[in-house]
Amino acid sequence: MITAYHDPGFAAPIGDHVMPMRKFQLVADAIAHRDGVRVEAPAPVAPEDLLRVHTQAYVEAVRTGEPRALAESQKFPWSPVLWPSVLLTNGGALAAAERALADGVAAAVASGFHHSHADHGEGFCTFNGLVVAAEALRARGRVGRVAVVDLDLHYGNGTASLCATRPWLFNCSIYGNDYCENKAYREVEPVRHTDGANHRSFALANGSGRAALLEALERGLAALRDWGRPDLVLYQAGADPYREDPYSPLDLDHEDLRERDRVVFAWARSEGLPLAWVLAGGYTPDVSKVVAVHVGTFDAALSVYG
Ligand SMILES: [Zn+2]
Repeated sequence: MITAYHDPGFAAPIGDHVMPMRKFQLVADAIAHRDGVRVEAPAPVAPEDLLRVHTQAYVEAVRTGEPRALAESQKFPWSPVLWPSVLLTNGGALAAAERALADGVAAAVASGFHHSHADHGEGFCTFNGLVVAAEALRARGRVGRVAVVDLDLHYGNGTASLCATRPWLFNCSIYGNDYCENKAYREVEPVRHTDGANHRSFALANGSGRAALLEALERGLAALRDWGRPDLVLYQAGADPYREDPYSPLDLDHEDLRERDRVVFAWARSEGLPLAWVLAGGYTPDVSKVVAVHVGTFDAALSVYG
């Protein structure tokens, strides 16, 4: 049985936005009655969970809305309901990570927020749920080392920046779009970031299809193996690499992305590594195609763990 954490309160009220917030509810509805999947509501994280990762000034800005520029650094309008919503989405990532330790696999029907830095948000990402979850489980003595496998379309710059002071955390980002200084870049050839011993990146050239993606994935997992064995894997299963996504220069269809997911799950299972996944980006105007990618991740998980 795969537990997926979702709460209607995940959807931050950011109005008409490129990020279709209703996709989370649509994914939850689509998987709710599927054999082998159980949807549960998570508890919200506490402010102290955020403060292990983010500065007091930034956390206070998101809670109170002031200073406004900092409260809106993730690039959508602040409102008083943002705070309870981000406590819940981060709670979803934490609940899934904790559940994965018991069950081997679990999911949060929320984003991982990989562009979020310690002292500000970027790219629609307020707090970095991946690192918040990892830190919370470390504080409880449940894990020591945690690896993030980030297969969102965009480079996971926030997680990479948080790796700098956390040798116990590994970030592998395989991406077809770059992201730097709160801007998305369509071309990945210019190097805008620096890899470190525990954060590695693998760029996919424009037009890359399944073979190039799986080859990069193999190199990414080999880099992770060189770093050492994690106690937990957090998998950022982005829907934005999909070929019809307005940001995607890649040539990946639903089958290709399901195969991507299957390879990640099969690797984690064969290595005996607990894995929790989150949904991440997806901007195809026909939201049913975004939902189909995320539901495909559940299909892939059920084919490996079911
Ligand atoms: Zn993305």
